[in-house]
Amino acid sequence: PVHRTDEVQKARLRLPILAEEQQVMELINEHPIVIVAGETGSGKTTQLPQFLYEAGYAQHKMIGVTEPRRVAAIAMSKRVAHEMNLPSSEVSYLIRFEGNVTPATRIKFMTDGVLLKEIESDFLLTKYSVIVLDEAHERSIYTDILVGLLSRIVPLRHKRSNPLKLIIMSATLRVSDFTENVRLFKVPPPVIKVEARQFPVTTHFQKHTPDDYVAEAYRKTLKIHAQLPEGGILIFVTGQQEVNQLVRKLRRAFPYKQTATAVEREQETKPTEQEQEDEQEQEFDIKRIIRNIRKSKKKFLTQISLPKINLDDYKLPGDDTEADMHEEQADTDLEDAADADDDDEQLVEQGPASTKQPLWVLPLYSLLSSEKQQRIFQPVPEGCRLCVVSTNVAETSLTIPHIKYVVDSGRQKTRLYDKLTGVSAFVVTYTSKACADQRAGRAGRVSAGHCYRLYSSAVYNDLFADFSPPDIQQKPVDDLMLQMRCMGIDRVVHFPFPTPPDQLQLQAAEQRLTVLGALEPRRSNDDKQPPAVAKLGHVISRFPVAPRFGKMLALSNQQQLLPYTVCLVAALSVQELLIETGVQREEDVAPVSNKHHQKRQSWAASGNYKLLGDPMVLLRAVGAAEYAGSQGKLASFCEANGLRHKAISEVRKLRVQLTNEINLNVSDVELCVDPQLKPPSDAQARFLRQILLAGMGDRVARKVPLAEITDKDERRRLKYAYNCADMEQPAFLHANSVLKQSTPEWIIYQEAYELQHGDGGKMFIRGITAIE
Ligand code: ADP
Ligand code: MG
Repeated sequence: PVHRTDEVQKARLRLPILAEEQQVMELINEHPIVIVAGETGSGKTTQLPQFLYEAGYAQHKMIGVTEPRRVAAIAMSKRVAHEMNLPSSEVSYLIRFEGNVTPATRIKFMTDGVLLKEIESDFLLTKYSVIVLDEAHERSIYTDILVGLLSRIVPLRHKRSNPLKLIIMSATLRVSDFTENVRLFKVPPPVIKVEARQFPVTTHFQKHTPDDYVAEAYRKTLKIHAQLPEGGILIFVTGQQEVNQLVRKLRRAFPYKQTATAVEREQETKPTEQEQEDEQEQEFDIKRIIRNIRKSKKKFLTQISLPKINLDDYKLPGDDTEADMHEEQADTDLEDAADADDDDEQLVEQGPASTKQPLWVLPLYSLLSSEKQQRIFQPVPEGCRLCVVSTNVAETSLTIPHIKYVVDSGRQKTRLYDKLTGVSAFVVTYTSKACADQRAGRAGRVSAGHCYRLYSSAVYNDLFADFSPPDIQQKPVDDLMLQMRCMGIDRVVHFPFPTPPDQLQLQAAEQRLTVLGALEPRRSNDDKQPPAVAKLGHVISRFPVAPRFGKMLALSNQQQLLPYTVCLVAALSVQELLIETGVQREEDVAPVSNKHHQKRQSWAASGNYKLLGDPMVLLRAVGAAEYAGSQGKLASFCEANGLRHKAISEVRKLRVQLTNEINLNVSDVELCVDPQLKPPSDAQARFLRQILLAGMGDRVARKVPLAEITDKDERRRLKYAYNCADMEQPAFLHANSVLKQSTPEWIIYQEAYELQHGDGGKMFIRGITAIE
């Protein structure tokens, strides 16, 4: 029995899904696979695991819940533990670098990637009685694959009279991709719709669509706050930088009186003492995590035997009709929206001084610490109006209470990839109609609300797609392909994907994996057999990093290179370790100062920098930061040297994890994570360069031959330009590269990306190492 507090019980009773508990559970008890669709905030994520628990599903096995976002996995496990009055040892979470799972865990929240890895070692997921795939409408790659795999695992568990339930949870978007795909589910699973008490939301379009939507959002928020009745405001912009910028401006305009908490809020960007303590506590926690990983890995090491299930045989009669299944969705009804433009005329232009009421402004984005994220759920101080500035995290995964007004920039930041080269670019694009409607819906949870769209209805009608395409059709699938092949799935093309990836994507991935040596070469061109997984491929897939990094690790067991490769791979796998200049990157937090740049030059300058180039900066930065950390000065060191504090702790966690992985998989190495790792010797740096080349063989570039160019301006323009394989236009050295002075003839690069530049794009390459 669960003992909930009165307060919790009262809050639960207000959630729409609670009224449907009996119906939902009856459906689940009667069917192996059920889809639960419900408006965001109806209580799916927090309540369904509790229903399952109370129905006895956690008695002998675990209830597993996957989330595409780490933020949600952590927040939801904490919330459910709190509601059920159970410790975190029983309602726990596990994400890539951390977790609090114990042998006593009954409900386990995890990221979808974590569950996929578990399938590799326990194909039938025997520890679970039920798997809940949450936020399936987000269409993350891993969730899509899990849907496909579980569509086969569930019947298999049934056959062995050890049934597993599958529950697919989704906002009320495009459920038909799951129900109408006969390749996926021969018998379409029943859908239960949770009717939420959604109040009407009036949407207001703008006459014009301003480019500076951040400034526009500020202006609109001023008006709302000054002139409209009580009710929280939720603002959607695209990235962390925009969120912080807007939060600062709004706090300045409507200051909350300087109490202790307000002072603390002001200093948000600087880590407080409390946070530094948290940091130390985390380090302490890591030791426990290591032990946990060790324990679980012991099991993992025992020979994995896959059951005899023919995963290749996905063909069902009538497979050819597949094209019909993906019929265009009916156009959403646009009539209503047509002439509603700019009907916020009752809102007149006014300066910030028009009201004295303070705004309680909170930021929300995925890199924000989970303590700070929790503040959106805490009570707002007396007399304040709540205002949350968020990225699309608040679209469906977290429901913020008391929102009555939504200000929607209509934009989102996405990382787009070139299908063939894998080159990526961060671009700000319009969201889809479905996302815009989700965002608007956030305003109607407590009472009738208003959504102010910072774009015109013409833009919405003509430039917004109906839905965002699923990730699997947009991102490289190398990692996924190798993982699936190592699970014994030979014909990835035939896998029952909810939406299959592009044929071209699959071919490109296969080719890259073959070049890498993870797959055996095809014997001949018309060979119908897919290439076998090479021994190296199996080793590579054990590492929780991209295949090219896995290869680098696999090759490093010589000359005491492993600690360096581990450190390098960890640093390269974590985004934005070095804070970069604004012009170079959309994601930037603050411009890199001259001082920082000089420091980086000096990190790379110690004798062998010519050998490793930019990766040496990463090695030295991590080394120096770890040293500072051991002296208890990590935060100030990061601040002083332009490093992202949270990235350093992620690198640390990944180093610990990789080190454990290696100790367990490779006999006779006893690696440890050395906080005082010395820079590599020249000989080691030379070997490391070989290893980089082995992992990055397809990322070689040659300097554009300037001598052949007669035009002076053209020569100047192409001074830092390189020709890269597979790319039509030349790419330019990143401004912060330590090799920008010497511009060597041949180089390898870690990443190529494109930035919007005038009408077209300009390509940049970064993480440069010279090849002799
Ligand atoms: P869904 O999954 O259907 O979108 P959730 O189960 O996430 O809905 O949310 C149900 C309700 O629980 C929401 O009103 C949300 O505000 C509330 N809630 C979620 N987490 C917390 C928390 N940490 N503190 C207080 N309320 C919360
Ligand atoms: Mg949810």
